[in-house]
Amino acid sequence: MMEGWKLPLLLLRTSLLALLRALLLASLASSLVSILGLASLRAAEPELEAQLAQLLRSGFDRPQQALLALQKLPAAQSPSAATQLRLRLTEGRLQVMAADIDAAQRSAEKLAADPNAAQLLLLLRAEIADRLGQSELAADFASQTLEALAQDCPRDGLTQAVQQQGCDYRAAWSALRVLGRTQYKEGALPLAQASAQYALALAQAGRDASLLAQSLGQLALLAQAQGLSEQADAYLAQAIKAAQGDVLNQAFAKNYQGAVAGLRADSVAQLRALEEGLALAKLADAPRLAAHLQGNIADAYLRLAQPAQALKAARQALPVVLGFKDLRIERSVRQNIAIALIQLGLFDQARHELARTNELRGESADQGLRAEELRELGEAWAQAGQAKEAITLFHAERKLSAELTARNREVSLQQLKIKYDSDRKQADLDLLQRERNLVDQQLSNRGLAQQAGVAVAVLLGLTLIFVVLMVRKVRAARQHLQANELLLRAQSERDPLTDLANRRHLLGVMALQPKAEFTGALLMIDIDHFKHINDQHGHGVGDQVICEVARRISHAVRAEDLVVRWGGEEFLVFAPDVDQAALHRLAKRILMEVGALPVQAQDGPLRVTVSIGFAHFPLPPAMLDLHWEQAVNWADMALYTAKSRGRNQAMGIATVDAGDAEALMQIEADFDAACSSDRVSLHQVLGPAAL
Ligand code: GH3
Ligand code: MG
Ligand code: MG
Repeated sequence: MMEGWKLPLLLLRTSLLALLRALLLASLASSLVSILGLASLRAAEPELEAQLAQLLRSGFDRPQQALLALQKLPAAQSPSAATQLRLRLTEGRLQVMAADIDAAQRSAEKLAADPNAAQLLLLLRAEIADRLGQSELAADFASQTLEALAQDCPRDGLTQAVQQQGCDYRAAWSALRVLGRTQYKEGALPLAQASAQYALALAQAGRDASLLAQSLGQLALLAQAQGLSEQADAYLAQAIKAAQGDVLNQAFAKNYQGAVAGLRADSVAQLRALEEGLALAKLADAPRLAAHLQGNIADAYLRLAQPAQALKAARQALPVVLGFKDLRIERSVRQNIAIALIQLGLFDQARHELARTNELRGESADQGLRAEELRELGEAWAQAGQAKEAITLFHAERKLSAELTARNREVSLQQLKIKYDSDRKQADLDLLQRERNLVDQQLSNRGLAQQAGVAVAVLLGLTLIFVVLMVRKVRAARQHLQANELLLRAQSERDPLTDLANRRHLLGVMALQPKAEFTGALLMIDIDHFKHINDQHGHGVGDQVICEVARRISHAVRAEDLVVRWGGEEFLVFAPDVDQAALHRLAKRILMEVGALPVQAQDGPLRVTVSIGFAHFPLPPAMLDLHWEQAVNWADMALYTAKSRGRNQAMGIATVDAGDAEALMQIEADFDAACSSDRVSLHQVLGPAAL
């Protein structure tokens, strides 16, 4: 149940830089091409190109056979060096499809040894990096491939460029697919859309039904990801039309149709499209595509709460996926198997499967994906009533999400620092310039004095004025620096999206509290089902909702309370001075303020509610001291309880039966059990009724 595009925008910067570079270097690259005659990326004779394209197409499902067929092509005997390079590139790309990365690297090295192959090499390297999950690198190589192709494939007059055989539209299309995939994964949807549109134009210019159907499918998915359902339907209809007459293309189109329905959370339509796609893939004798479809079918069944069917589909997909060493898909198939087992109550088997999956995963670099996996698993355990596992995963996910947020923050801080440093350098330069001007003035004044000795008094006066001026200017420069520093500090403690205080600010406030004796109340607030808002309306609307909720919370609290953006759609309120009764009223006000009236988003009104966990510290009745971070953890646990009891409500910790710190920690280790056995008593505050 992975949907890559929703991952945080951590790497957006990379694609922007890549795009900029593509623009800047395009002209340079193209002039080099013409000067050095490095036309290696130019398409060979149309007949050979068509044969190679056909092998690459069949290679997705049967790479070994395609590799054998490649050796047997008549062109393999050709003495032409250019033809041999094209064959080697195709060989490398087929080796990537066969997951034989070592062989592909060897092919790349061979290409690297030939100075004429520099450009061909870029596309192969992009596909190798993509296959290894190194998306940043893959996008970089893909952009360079496009730069190399820029002259042969100008956006204006593409059809002519393709038909006069200069533009290797298939290579450009493949590079765009790699680039677009990374952009989509990073959530840079407009960039991904631009890539897909260029790919579509290439497919049209080449009159290539297969690439056309795929580009249209991608555009449909991207439109839906941005909440544009009508546009998505239009693209889908075109994709299905373009796929007519070719069973494999039809199967691909159905997969896109299923994915679009999945984004719309229409699991019934999703399942229908995917089942149709599966039948077509079998008809086309395409085992790998069939396995992909089955993996997606498992997803749909899980959403429809039919775990037995999900398990069946995922288990059918697994051996094929393993054969292709398709780690990305394998991970998601195994995750689906585990969730299905949990839903079926086969807990031991699920644990076993998860242990295996964890082994396989090793040190995964993709923290966003991991957080998403943890969240889904946690939810599955919670629904199965397995509180202990659920809470462990819940906290693991929180921790990971917090790390991701912190990393984002580090990046913005670095940028601020760079700006600050350059401002300071400029200020230093200004000062130097002023000093020089002053010395010049003094020298010329001295000259004047020598020429007209009578003007000494005037000169002294002038010098004095200049000195005064200089002192004032130096002071102004210093004030400017101080203002810069204050601004930097203020910005580093403020969340740029909502303008609320951020974690760094809270850290500063907490540093003022006596260590390990936290007093006051904390309310941890999390928007309910926020992922659905992102899924159905796009990230832009998601951001709008976050801002509006931030505004409503700020409106609900009192002047002395501090509201912090704690994470993505989580807020923390620190109320330093509040009694129990006022705390309950505060929680109620926040619930009502956020949930009573719909949020006016750009595409219409949206109902948004939050869940809250809160507590007053030290915890009654024993009033044990604890550190503020531990207090946050207690608010977090109460929030989790509010979520698991149906959301749109607040759960407050009323009393805790713990005599010492150790007893407190025991309760933390199994909070749900402590609530059930009344060692923790909770106070519930309900949110507004449905509108
Ligand atoms: P729950 O009711 O259990 O809280 O469900 P949920 O869907 O809100 O689940 P979760 O808290 O895991 O989802 C948070 C999502 O918020 C995941 C992430 O993609 C998204 N998100 C995080 N930060 C931002 C942001 O700054 N903008 C937008 N648009 N989305 C964000
Ligand atoms: Mg959350
Ligand atoms: Mg949430």
